[in-house]
Amino acid sequence: MNPPSIVTIIESLPVMEQFYTIQGEGYHQGKAAGFIRLAGCDVGCFWCDVKESWDAANHNLISVEKIASDCSQYPSDICVITGGEPLMHDLTNLTRSLHSFNKKTHLETSGAYPVTGSWDWICVSPKKFKAPVPEIMTLADELKVIVYNQSDFKWAESFSDKVTDKCMLFLQPEWSKEKTMLPLITEYVKENPKWNISLQIHKYLNIP
Ligand code: SF4
Repeated sequence: MNPPSIVTIIESLPVMEQFYTIQGEGYHQGKAAGFIRLAGCDVGCFWCDVKESWDAANHNLISVEKIASDCSQYPSDICVITGGEPLMHDLTNLTRSLHSFNKKTHLETSGAYPVTGSWDWICVSPKKFKAPVPEIMTLADELKVIVYNQSDFKWAESFSDKVTDKCMLFLQPEWSKEKTMLPLITEYVKENPKWNISLQIHKYLNIP
């Protein structure tokens, strides 16, 4: 006799913070959006600006219904799930709950884990410290590569032929290297116009 199947239903998730702001990066930059920053990340980028998100145990578990309900109060119909690395969690119920509030679900992920949930927009930002799972690249609506040094242009190109034709391509300077790398990115995009520049405009605006 087969053992009963075990179905894990995610009822609550560790939340570092939830807030309403302007999407500062990538294709949707400049648009108002609710943000849900889930805790937990084992990717280990040394330049990470949200290291306090890494240990999920340091953050409160909040019910999926409350997370979605809180996000539904914001006027924008966009809800961005970020981290941490949000795909460390099963996001099926969270995205289902957000859709029940007629919110659009946008994911920001390093791609280090398989996709769960139902998404209206997927931004994959691969990191050198933990490779993305190959299948995620074909699901990406947006590929956003952080440029920390000159070798990152070649690294970015190694992903550009793994995404679909409809995927938007962005190069974004790592914030601490912005002054050095932005002129190089500008020249690179002029030479390779399939790429676009992404700036962290929320940092220029001094908002979260
Ligand atoms: Fe930080 Fe994101 Fe890298 Fe995780 S994947 S270490 S949250 S920058």
